[in-house]
Amino acid sequence: MKHIPRKRFGQNFLKDPAILDAIIDAISPEPEDILVEIGPGMGAMTERLLPYLKRMDAVELDRDLVALLQKKFKDRPLTIHQGDALTFDFQSLQSNPEQKIRIAGNLPYNISTPLLFHLMTFADIVQDQHFMLQKEVVERMAAEHGSKAYGRFSIMLQWRYDIDMLFTVPPTAFDPAPKVDSAIVRMIPKEPPAPCNPENLGKVVTQAFSQRRKIIRNTLAPLFSETALERYGIDPAKRPEQLTLEQFISLSNQLQETA
Ligand code: SAM
Repeated sequence: MKHIPRKRFGQNFLKDPAILDAIIDAISPEPEDILVEIGPGMGAMTERLLPYLKRMDAVELDRDLVALLQKKFKDRPLTIHQGDALTFDFQSLQSNPEQKIRIAGNLPYNISTPLLFHLMTFADIVQDQHFMLQKEVVERMAAEHGSKAYGRFSIMLQWRYDIDMLFTVPPTAFDPAPKVDSAIVRMIPKEPPAPCNPENLGKVVTQAFSQRRKIIRNTLAPLFSETALERYGIDPAKRPEQLTLEQFISLSNQLQETA
């Protein structure tokens, strides 16, 4: 069956067998896993994952691709959920509350940020996540304090996950080729995450990075006085990218206490 890639669904299909094998290796599927693939497309990853698994799920938005996949994998233990991964209830895949689910996919890049935040709401029931994303996005996800890529996105995700960039993938590995480099990222939920209210963390981080070049004595003034920052052991003359994840978490917890 011929499928014409749809740009609005972020369709760039993986065609490089060596890259596909490297992704499956990174995931290391086990027979009992509850593994869900987001955006299986024409099934390039799916067909390599299925032989390892007793069952598999996939969430795909494009109805034409769902029809194609249903035909292609007719007699295989694959359940395809036609729908939007941005609203999909991943908890519905869990048959036993003791067993966490695994999530993987070559994601549609145009929805990567909202999708990662939607998935964060399921982090408690997730064993790990392996995704292909735009390289620049993965760099921001995994960035450490002090680096240029470090910001709100890095902090919000690193509060909840350990994040590793595994390897990069050139545009030539896809059809059609995207305009950007890609990378594979592994995300493992922290167990447990540091106590913190993510809404407060979001408030502090957004405020701190509202003017990236300015020192936090100025940008954080609406939330913390200079003396308060000093009392919490944080140098008010620092710029936001110099503060560690732990310092942001500790500030957000102070906010909770003084709110
Ligand atoms: N996994 C395939 C591969 O590697 O060749 C396709 C990857 S392609 C980058 C992204 C896939 O996600 C497409 O199949 C697209 O139709 C699907 N998709 C786009 N938006 C989606 C959404 N909101 N929910 C679920 N799937 C979506």
